[in-house]
Amino acid sequence: MEEVIIITGASRGIGREIAKTLAKNGKKVIANYNHSLNQAVELQEELKKEGIEIDLFRADVSKKQEAEKLVEFTIKKYKKIDVLINNAGISDGKMITDITDEDWHKMINTNLYSAFIMSQLAIPYMIHEKQGQIINISSIWGMVGSSCEVLYSITKAGMNGLTKALAKELGPSGIRVNAIAPGMINTEMNNEFSPEEIEAIKQEIPLEKIGEPNEIAKCVKWLLEDSYTTGQIISINGGWVIT
Ligand code: NAD
Repeated sequence: MEEVIIITGASRGIGREIAKTLAKNGKKVIANYNHSLNQAVELQEELKKEGIEIDLFRADVSKKQEAEKLVEFTIKKYKKIDVLINNAGISDGKMITDITDEDWHKMINTNLYSAFIMSQLAIPYMIHEKQGQIINISSIWGMVGSSCEVLYSITKAGMNGLTKALAKELGPSGIRVNAIAPGMINTEMNNEFSPEEIEAIKQEIPLEKIGEPNEIAKCVKWLLEDSYTTGQIISINGGWVIT
């Protein structure tokens, strides 16, 4: 049977592109969405025209009960989870003095707890098969920190820690865990930036351009083909951050 892959936050942006790429490569994709039903259905319809079926499942993955339902749906239908892609995330630029407790809980739960709980729920099924893979969609800001994005940077740094620790813990069970840390990618997440600001950012990037979601999807596809990479934070950023 084809590899069964859960992708969180797959209705738009990077998650959508990953879903399309993997589905077109014969993988069984369970595309999770939260609010964007229309975009999720549109994705499903688009693929259907090419004769490709994907599953859609609504769940707010920042909540344990809903994450459990997503995993239960997958296991009931396919009996296994080969790959978990923790992609769901939000950003919110604020000075630290403006951040509320509510902001803290929302960002931590959406970006970091979701990756933790989805991993915790999926891992037993991977251990059972003695194989599996987790790919966390992190950010360069988790590596080098971003001014006025303290919360976002904390969650992505946490995701990188989760990636490294889990890779060590799960390697002996045949499970690989990696993160992709994109630079700036052309998605709705960056709608808050004006065209002038985007131009200024391009000037800071050695390749002088913003990345496209398919650059991230190509890396995910490669990670699925690979068999010896684990515990790595793979940064795809046009040279913006070189460590
Ligand atoms: P996006 O806003 O287009 O997509 C994020 C998706 O996550 C949306 O579909 C949204 O509905 C979903 N989501 C948010 N909260 C959710 C929840 N609680 N449950 C389920 N789904 C939820 O942005 P994107 O650029 O495609 O972002 C995807 C990932 O890539 C995020 O984790 C983001 O932090 C990361 N990233 C993006 C960039 C960039 O420049 N676009 C750079 C680095 C990292």
